Amino acid sequence: MTGKMAVIYSDDYLKYYLSPNHPLRPQRLALAIRLMREIGVFNNQNVTMVEPGECEEVELELVHSPEYIELVKTLSKTGEGYLDYGDTPAFPRMFEVTRKIVGGSLKAADLLNKGEVQHAFNIGGGLHHATRSRASGFCVFNDIACTVRYIQKKYQLKRIMVVDLDCHHADGTQDTFYSESGVLTVSLHEDGTYLFPGSGFVFEDGEGEGKGYCVNVPLPPYTFDEAYLYAFNEIVPPLARAYKPELILQQSGVDTHYTDPLTSEALTIRAFLNVVKTMHSLAHELCDGKYLLFGGGGYQIGVVARAWASMLCELLNISIPEETPEAWREFYNSVSKEIGLNYAAPTKMEDPEVKVEERAKKMVFEDLKQVVQDVKERIFPVHGLDF
Ligand SMILES: [Zn+2]
Ligand SMILES: [Zn+2]
Repeated sequence: MTGKMAVIYSDDYLKYYLSPNHPLRPQRLALAIRLMREIGVFNNQNVTMVEPGECEEVELELVHSPEYIELVKTLSKTGEGYLDYGDTPAFPRMFEVTRKIVGGSLKAADLLNKGEVQHAFNIGGGLHHATRSRASGFCVFNDIACTVRYIQKKYQLKRIMVVDLDCHHADGTQDTFYSESGVLTVSLHEDGTYLFPGSGFVFEDGEGEGKGYCVNVPLPPYTFDEAYLYAFNEIVPPLARAYKPELILQQSGVDTHYTDPLTSEALTIRAFLNVVKTMHSLAHELCDGKYLLFGGGGYQIGVVARAWASMLCELLNISIPEETPEAWREFYNSVSKEIGLNYAAPTKMEDPEVKVEERAKKMVFEDLKQVVQDVKERIFPVHGLDF
C-alpha cells in the first residue's frame, strides 16, 4: 500500500507567528520537518516535498465572507489588535502567510485529485476553528473547509469525509457543512464541558439534508489509548464504509497527547499511529488511497515532531527508529533554549508506557461506552447501520 506521497511545506509557514510566548509556536513545524529529514523520510523515493503558493482571494471566498477577508487584510498591514476575543492576535503579513497555508491545502487537493500522489500531508494546515465571518482559537482562515469547497467545485466530488482528531472540537468545519450530506464530518475531541470551544456534543448532528452527517464524539478527560481506540474503531470505520467517501481528509492535531499543556487527555503516539494505520487502509479500500492529512494542534514541540514524523513512516511503510537522531536533538535544544522552554530533547521516538489507575480506567471506559452508544443511536440509522 505504498503509493506516492507529498509533504506540503514552506519556510513561510514559520511566519504564522501569533505572538511571543503564544502556545502555537511556529518552531513546531521546523522541528517536525527536521525530524522527518533526519530519519530519512525524504530519502524515500515515494515522497516529495512540495512548496505551495498563496491561494487566491476567491478561494477564501468559498468559505469566508468578503467583510471578514477585508478585516484580515487590514489588520495584517500593522499586525496589531485581535481577530477574536483574545486567542488570535493579528500579526504582520498574516493575510499572505495564511493564504500560503490555505494554498498548501489546495495544492494537496490538486495533487491527489490529478492522481499525482495518493497521500498528501500539509503540516501547516488544519485551522479548523475559523468560520465564515470570524477567526477563532488561533485559526485565521479555515483551510480544511476551503479545501472541501475547492474540491467540490473543481473536481465535482459528491462525498467527502473529514475526520478531525484534534483535542478541540472542529467547530468551524462543522458550521460550514452543517446542513449538507455531501460532507461527512467526524470530530473526536475532549468534551466541551471542560475545554474550548465548549461545543461538539453528541446532539449536534447536523440539520436538514445534513442530519446525521455531522458526528461528534466528546471524550472524557484522561481518555487513554485503549479507550480512545475502542471509540474510534466502533464509530469511524463502519461510518466510512457505509458512506463510501471519494476522498478522506484528516485533521491530525496531536494535542490529545498525555503531556499536552493545554488539554487533559492521556494518549500516546502509539494511539495516533494506530488511528493513521486504520485511516490509511480505509483510504485504500474506499477511495483509491486518496487521503489528505492536515496538521493541527499540539503544544509540546517534541511531541508534534515525533508524532507527525512517525505518522509519515507509517504511511510510507518505513520503520520508525527507536532513538531520535543526534542532529535533531541538537536542533531541538537550540530551539528550546531560544524560546525559553529548556526541556531536554526527547531521546526516544516512542512514548513510555503511561500508567492509568484501574479506577480511573474504569470510569473513562464507562463514560465512553455511553458516548459511543449515544452516537450510534443518533447517527447509524441514517447510514443504514445497526447499533
Ligand atoms: Zn498508502
Ligand atoms: Zn487543538
